[in-house]
Amino acid sequence: MKVHEYQAKALLREFGVAVPKGDVADTPAQAKEIAQRLGGRTVVKAQVHAGGRGKGGGIKLADDPAGAEAAAKQILGMMLKTPQTPPEGIKVRTVLVEEASAIDRELYLSMTLDRGRSTHVVMASQAGGMDIEDVAAKTPEKIVREWTHPAIGLTDFQARRLAFGLGLAGDQFRQGVALIKALFALYLAKDCSLAEINPLVVTKDGRVFALDAKLNFDDNALFRHKELVELRDVHEEDPLDVEASKYGLNYIKLDGNVGCMVNGAGLAMATMDIVKIAGGEPANFLDVGGGASPEQIENAFRIISSDPSVKAIFINVFGGILRVDRLAEGIIAAVRKLGLTLPVVLRAEGTNVELGKKMLAESGLALTMADDMGDGARKAVAFAKGQK
Ligand code: GDP
Ligand code: MN
Repeated sequence: MKVHEYQAKALLREFGVAVPKGDVADTPAQAKEIAQRLGGRTVVKAQVHAGGRGKGGGIKLADDPAGAEAAAKQILGMMLKTPQTPPEGIKVRTVLVEEASAIDRELYLSMTLDRGRSTHVVMASQAGGMDIEDVAAKTPEKIVREWTHPAIGLTDFQARRLAFGLGLAGDQFRQGVALIKALFALYLAKDCSLAEINPLVVTKDGRVFALDAKLNFDDNALFRHKELVELRDVHEEDPLDVEASKYGLNYIKLDGNVGCMVNGAGLAMATMDIVKIAGGEPANFLDVGGGASPEQIENAFRIISSDPSVKAIFINVFGGILRVDRLAEGIIAAVRKLGLTLPVVLRAEGTNVELGKKMLAESGLALTMADDMGDGARKAVAFAKGQK
């Protein structure tokens, strides 16, 4: 799960990570009022779940409250386009108004899980404010890394090595070490999958703080963080993904036109591969789960078919815990309610497969049976391309 910069900064503040003073606004008048309270120059920042906002016109500096109001007027409601947003952009609903910083240096700091080493890695670089993937590709020596011990965590000497790597000295070094340790404490306590500060800044008057903040949380740990679940902004998520998560379905929308309805993540991956081999493009990844109920099948079917880019549906199931007759029950119920007209190709094996196929054959549904996965994928792709 992702959160907005202003929400991330509130958490940072709670854990003692230095951030600029500021507040959120959803109207230009509020932005003006916040700027008045802060005094001096301010920066108005679009709050969307995507980076690169600076280049997309989502970050504006203002000299006075009237300027902050004008900036907020421009940013609020805009469809912000950055390299990280969908092509049409994301609508901006809130802005963060902060005291502007006189920046001396822009640094980079992040922490995430290194699956290869089975532990957390903390990364620091003096090349802040830019695309870190570029830095990693072109000048990897500019990134300093420290891997933490799972039982010990980040030690003081590691935090100091990172701060040295950032080129900090004297009082800034002390601020840097404290900030790195505080951020790591937050990262662990809140089960983050990523904490990224880009840029971490050193100001002209010698202060070190997080100018930007990005926190991602491990969805599998959200059950123990009710306070984080409340920060979720469903506006920022694909509506079909939101709908699917309500029913406990593992659904990810993709760019193709062959809707895939599959049980089991491994089979879902294999199905996407085989659709591609057959010359098509999957419209989604969907794992209804091993023990899906007819209701879940019905919801999954509704979600796939409400995606306008879907031109054919390929059902590929192995009836283990999910019996094929229960799958059939769900599909038939969904089609009755939805009045579905899309072509559907079915490949099913496993428990009660004969009964399930019989129920589907007798349902009056325009269903094409497949002999195996390859055959099913070829038939579904042909339908999607209008060749059948
Ligand atoms: P992002 O583009 O979405 O990652 O947004 P950031 O919060 O990282 O801001 C992008 C860039 O805007 C930073 O790297 C800074 O160069 C600039 N910026 C943001 N806030 C300020 C500020 O208060 N003062 C100055 N001078 N520049 C700022
Ligand atoms: Mn940034």
